[in-house]
Amino acid sequence: MTDSTAAKGLTKVSFDEALTRYDPVIGLEVHVELGTNSKMFCSCSASFGADPNTHVCPVCLALPGAMPVINEVAVESIIRMGLALHCSIATWCRMARKNYFYPDMPKNFQISQYDEPICVDGWLDVVVPLDDGGSETVRVEIERVHLEEDTGKLTHAGGATGRIHGADYSLVDYNRAGIPLVEIVTKPVTGTRALAPAVAKAYVAELRDIMRDLGVSDVKMEEGSLRCDANVSLHRSGEPWGTRTETKNVNSLRSVERAVRSEVERQAAVLDGGGVIRQETRHFHEDTGTTTSGRSKEEAEDYRYFPEPDLVPIAPDPAWVEELRGTIPEQPSLRRARLADTWQISPLEMESLVNAGVLGIVESAVNDGVTPDAARKWWAGELLRQANERGVAPADLAVTSADIARVEQLISDGSLNDQLARQVFDGVANGEGGVDAVVEARGLGVVSDDGALISAIDDALAAQPDVAQKIRGGKVAAAGAIVGAVMKATGGRADAGKVRELILARVVEQ
Ligand code: ADP
Ligand code: MG
Ligand code: ZN
Repeated sequence: MTDSTAAKGLTKVSFDEALTRYDPVIGLEVHVELGTNSKMFCSCSASFGADPNTHVCPVCLALPGAMPVINEVAVESIIRMGLALHCSIATWCRMARKNYFYPDMPKNFQISQYDEPICVDGWLDVVVPLDDGGSETVRVEIERVHLEEDTGKLTHAGGATGRIHGADYSLVDYNRAGIPLVEIVTKPVTGTRALAPAVAKAYVAELRDIMRDLGVSDVKMEEGSLRCDANVSLHRSGEPWGTRTETKNVNSLRSVERAVRSEVERQAAVLDGGGVIRQETRHFHEDTGTTTSGRSKEEAEDYRYFPEPDLVPIAPDPAWVEELRGTIPEQPSLRRARLADTWQISPLEMESLVNAGVLGIVESAVNDGVTPDAARKWWAGELLRQANERGVAPADLAVTSADIARVEQLISDGSLNDQLARQVFDGVANGEGGVDAVVEARGLGVVSDDGALISAIDDALAAQPDVAQKIRGGKVAAAGAIVGAVMKATGGRADAGKVRELILARVVEQ
């Protein structure tokens, strides 16, 4: 790493110290690969993971004379994305040809948008968690959201690092070339100071959630369908902004935060040492958490943009745009805050529902009349486990809200306990019938007949006379062993609380 601070003899500057002298400005460029069936300008499949160069045709390979045709679903998707980000939608705009030569791009130009993006001037409020457990809402302004096509994928073989440097040869897969890509560019975000890395992370996380809820992309950072470039510059308070660097290869939310942080530290060290920041792209390395220099950044003129002559302009009908506006779901973080509030759960509990991927199904169970506590308990616990075990999504498990409500009713009137309820759900999920039918068929009712329980208790006490002695001597906690034995004897079909009461009464009687 030729340009690390140590190698240059610069003094390392901690993040906190950097902030005592400099203000960071950040800007984020996020690329989202759309989940359309076909590519941006041809009918090739846009699915991920096929054998290399099997999803290609004369259009996406740019054979002479092949003509592109724009994908309507991609246009619809980007308009919905722009609307979710509070952008204005152009009534007329064109695609532009961006000229550059690189082996991952068969055309030797990329069809993109330049001075006529389809969505402009939006904003997104992001909730940034603070160290003290609170949060701060920061508005990130959106410059533009535009449509373009993805490039192919290069694999550099033979070297130790998988990078082009040191590789013996490179392979190219054009399956990805021509997949619809949306670029979302923020305006410079200022005034966030120490929160800058967390703002960057929260912004990308919120975008990811929005795109997922819109259903326009599977937004997987690890597969590259959501990619982020982080621009960072530093300046002294009151002085003009500094030169920015653009860090690429940021492949996880955590890396977004780390990349901004490490770039602040690096730039502060350079500036402290009297150096200048070059406008360049940099690469983030997951292993070291630092960035290294890439190429010096082209200016727009280098790309010789001009309106794409092979495509007609895009002129979305305002009535259609209004119709699409009606399909935009509530912003994910606002929805979570609202539901957490009505269900009276903590942000942490909400986060665990989201991470488990069950928020939607819990919400629909609650809408169907299941109590929030029961819906959460079953969907984040046993039902999720059963869905995973069967390899199906929770929503595809054959257990309905009515089943959950019925199980809860049986638990509250003492006919079932949690352990039996799990078996009931297993039966329902297996298609053995509804809750009552499974209880009946599998004989899962709680044993409520005191006589049967007392005889099981007497057996257990007789089998463990030392324990019986302890209970008699006042060691009530020892009753646990007898409860366990009775539960075992009844196949879990007893109410443990009731068994405990009966044991204590029985010991006195004996
Ligand atoms: P490029 O095509 O060179 O990547 P873009 O306009 O697509 O340029 O994106 C530049 C990004 O950098 C935007 O998010 C913008 O807000 C941000 N930016 C611009 N100036 C600065 C600066 N001085 N410091 C940090 N970020 C900046
Ligand atoms: Mg850019
Ligand atoms: Zn094609």
